[in-house]
Amino acid sequence: MRINSHTNVPAVVERFLRYVRIDTQSDASSDTVPSTEKQKNLSCLLVNELREMGYPNAFMDEYGYVFCSIHRIRTDNSQQNQAVLGLLAHLDTAPDESGENVHPVVHPPYQGGVIQLPGDTSVRLDPERSPGLLNHLGERIISSDGTTLLGSDDKAGVAILMQLAEDLLHDDKTRPEIRLCFTIDEEIGRGVEHMDLGSYGADVAYTLDGGSINTISFETFHAVLVQIDITGRSVHPGYAKDILVNAMRIAAEIVAALPVDEAPETTELREGYLHPYHISDSNVTQSTLQIIIRDFSDEGMDQKKQLIHQIVEEARTRHADARIQVVFTEQYRNMRSYIEDLDFRTVTFARKAAQKMGFTLKEELVRGGTDGARLSERGLPTPNIFNGGYDYHSRFEWNTVENLEHALAYSKELVRYWGEHG
Ligand SMILES: [Zn+2]
Repeated sequence: MRINSHTNVPAVVERFLRYVRIDTQSDASSDTVPSTEKQKNLSCLLVNELREMGYPNAFMDEYGYVFCSIHRIRTDNSQQNQAVLGLLAHLDTAPDESGENVHPVVHPPYQGGVIQLPGDTSVRLDPERSPGLLNHLGERIISSDGTTLLGSDDKAGVAILMQLAEDLLHDDKTRPEIRLCFTIDEEIGRGVEHMDLGSYGADVAYTLDGGSINTISFETFHAVLVQIDITGRSVHPGYAKDILVNAMRIAAEIVAALPVDEAPETTELREGYLHPYHISDSNVTQSTLQIIIRDFSDEGMDQKKQLIHQIVEEARTRHADARIQVVFTEQYRNMRSYIEDLDFRTVTFARKAAQKMGFTLKEELVRGGTDGARLSERGLPTPNIFNGGYDYHSRFEWNTVENLEHALAYSKELVRYWGEHG
């Protein structure tokens, strides 16, 4: 049975249901900017909608980013040197699952239990797998039909900011200058590469990109890539005793020496890991091993680097005739240190705005990178706030009508708080 009653949904949800139908999947194997031209289909639509609403300044740049300024409203209580507030969401969806022909389904109020998605009998929203569902009893769950991802990551953020723009046209409460930005290619780690922060002009910013309901994220891993190049020595295996040095075997020994209790599959929350993920061009004479290491703290990262050195030293001792070289490359750093140095009001104001609405904003760690991490590193402090969605990058992805409304209401409160105090 297909339940698809899209009537009687709030405006933000109506937007969301429209935007998720537009395929904007990004592609890591592409060298173009944006990585897929189709992302611009949504960019163009958003620009048109913003202009029709009453924002003639809205535009798309050559890369597909969309920008729009919402002008400040001052009252007697306004601060003099008010910060310019950036709000960002990304247009693209993850390459992990298809984003083509998305058919969103709005389910009846959730009563608990398993929700079978109509398009694929193997795809069921199950509280056993997704315990967050049970926090949303009585709400209207939105999912795909099970054949694609939903694209709540991050069209929920896009829909919330678009509705915010529309609603602020009819709102005369004090607010700061706001700079909306819809970004491209976030899912392939190139979200803000081509963004000119000088002309963007924001002093503080937020991404609205996932995270559990009522959460803020301002801590990411420190991330380091380790590359180990092993050179062995090949001879005829029949006459190889004491001569042959097998680079492939050494690579396998190094992988086997990595601690199993510090792996992505055995860690969670604040625990870091060492993750061997790629061996390339491996044969007897040559093997290249790549390991990513992740940790929230500097000390934890140092320990993990030390461990790599130690494992490699031991391999060198066992195989004196092999050449083993190690290179560490920093990929990104925990964004917390940047946010603390630049402007921690991004966190404290977000908490205050939540208090005003009567809920507590919880901190959620990001066990990965985000656009905000790169922006913070480049000088724009940018925590992430929730957009209501769960189980991203999969066909099990869902959000709720009520979450979208709540996230929209929160974004308005946040804007007001910056208007009065920022
Ligand atoms: Zn996202």
